[in-house]
Amino acid sequence: MAKKQKKSAANKRPSKFLYWMIGLIVVCIAGLVILANLPKDGFDFDYADQPFLGEKSADVSIVEFGDYKCPVCKSFTQSFFPLIEKDFINTGKAKFYFMNYPFIHPADSTRAAVFAEAVYTELGNDIFWKFHEKLYDKQPDDTSKENVELNTEEFLTDTLKEVTSEENAAKIASIYKENKYQKQVDKDLSYVEELNITGTPTIYVNGVKFEGNTYEEFQEMVNKAAK
Ligand code: CA
Repeated sequence: MAKKQKKSAANKRPSKFLYWMIGLIVVCIAGLVILANLPKDGFDFDYADQPFLGEKSADVSIVEFGDYKCPVCKSFTQSFFPLIEKDFINTGKAKFYFMNYPFIHPADSTRAAVFAEAVYTELGNDIFWKFHEKLYDKQPDDTSKENVELNTEEFLTDTLKEVTSEENAAKIASIYKENKYQKQVDKDLSYVEELNITGTPTIYVNGVKFEGNTYEEFQEMVNKAAK
């Protein structure tokens, strides 16, 4: 009889352990659910179909919202961007995306943005970035000419010829007329609206707006995001 009691006490022990394990699992699941529902640090961009420079595997995604008629974007591309390229893109720490916010000139800005979207999709990332750089190179320094219509179809096609073959340029000029790439600019503009972006260039690092002014502040932000 005593032996039987001992046996039944021993039988109870695993069930206590089982309850304890179930309790632990419930606590873990609750923790995971809470973690999954924590607000994300930054805006969740859909980066698909957006031109970028850098390694796909890079931890940090930098986004520039720019306008091809914006003189500050030109100076950003020529003075700030080479530093980003050296410190973050070439080192594999970050990817750099360009998204369109055409607003400065009613016709020129949008025309250049739609044309560039067509270049990216039809001719690829490498030609896109050469064309992108060339457009800023050719933007006149005299900002009083800011509102003069310059980014005509002819100008854009000729500029494209400087970085690719005549056939490619003719192909894009013809596709541009179909206006099928306006929707890619519209997608970028939907972010502008959602994020309440009011000027160019506006920079995001992993979905968080860069609010600083100096390159040192920018470096700090990217380094923190890389951790
Ligand atoms: Ca885009």
